[in-house]
Amino acid sequence: MNKKGGQNLKMWEEKFSSRSKTMKASAIRELLKLVESPDIISFAGGMPDPNLFPKEILGEIAKEVFVNHGGKALQYGPTEGVKPLRETIVKMMQEEGIKNVGLENVLVTTASQQALDLIAKVFVDPGDTVIVEAPSYVGGLQALQAFQANFVTVPLDEEGIKTDILEEKIKELQGKGVNIKLIYVIPNFQNPAGVTLSLERRKELLRISHTYEIPIIEDDPYGEIRFEGEKFPSLLELDQIGNVIGLRTFSKILAPGFRLGWIIANATAISKLALAKQAADLCSPSSTQYIADKFIRDGYMNDYLDKVRKVYKEKKDTMLNAMEKYFPKEVTWTKPHGGMFVWVETPEYIDTDALFIEAVKEKKVAYVIGSAFYPYGEDKRHMRLNFTLSTLEQIDEGIKRLGELLQSKIR
Ligand SMILES: *Cc1c(COP(=O)(O)O)cnc(C)c1O
Repeated sequence: MNKKGGQNLKMWEEKFSSRSKTMKASAIRELLKLVESPDIISFAGGMPDPNLFPKEILGEIAKEVFVNHGGKALQYGPTEGVKPLRETIVKMMQEEGIKNVGLENVLVTTASQQALDLIAKVFVDPGDTVIVEAPSYVGGLQALQAFQANFVTVPLDEEGIKTDILEEKIKELQGKGVNIKLIYVIPNFQNPAGVTLSLERRKELLRISHTYEIPIIEDDPYGEIRFEGEKFPSLLELDQIGNVIGLRTFSKILAPGFRLGWIIANATAISKLALAKQAADLCSPSSTQYIADKFIRDGYMNDYLDKVRKVYKEKKDTMLNAMEKYFPKEVTWTKPHGGMFVWVETPEYIDTDALFIEAVKEKKVAYVIGSAFYPYGEDKRHMRLNFTLSTLEQIDEGIKRLGELLQSKIR
């Protein structure tokens, strides 16, 4: 064994696929390595509050599942997912208002990251055009990038993706003969921007998808984590034609360590995605599928989500109040009604990439640089702040430190 590849480094470079050469280390993951030290207050990660995980209940359920149903829970399962969980998912989707959904419309995935990877694999040839929000979710961009997608970005405002600009860009591209493969959106409490797509724009987005025949990927990990404001129907619910592929996950509503999510789509898309999944991992872990299913069937989900919403709302309010108190008036931010993030905009002359180093080294506070959320890194005046992981005291203190730093840069 030679740890570094030794004399063969050149050989490895020659063997890696051209696809693998487009993969780049996520700026976030690289930066997070810097902020692991305990004296740093970090608003950088995107993690749920681990103090809320229902550990005791899941422990009891896990024991029951392994001892009494271990034969199935520890065995390989169907690629599409174990039947009880798929039935539970169908019921949840129906209760949400999605009509005509059956078992053939569900594919359980190894959380949404796998769903994004499978979608990229199944839809994207090298150089294919995919429309994404600007900013957009790093994990989604990374999955699409690995299959050499060409990104076209459409900006967001407080009401989500700007559908007028979207339509203009589609007309222009299709006019040149471009086959636009997908539109990728995060409609609820967007990561990173924290904004929610308005009802009017949801309808407009679906109209555009139908008119120009482009499927929509609706990535919705946060829909259930709403603290306030009006709930809008999902694109899946509003879609009459079957153009939407919906991605859901247990990561933000239960436990990311389960690595469990699901795709809802028409049966044609599901079969193709299931074939791709078979090659990727045969099946998602049967054990966590049975545990998550029993957690829902035994009726624990609603109480748990109530608790999550209550705690996160308090943390969000604490962060926004601290920002009012400590941030210079030249800096603005979104006011999310749910989810886990606030998106901060600085004056043009403040470069948040450069500021990050000072924030970590001098002020011992971390955020994610805005440029990480643009496929071509073009924006340097934003930062993403997570409010779910830190304590209320840390939130106030961290925002105070960041406020001092921002204040010192104001001209
Ligand atoms: C957190 C998150 C996911 C979830 O990833 P998992 O692989 O399910 O843990 C997906 N999309 C967005 C936008 C997210 O913020």
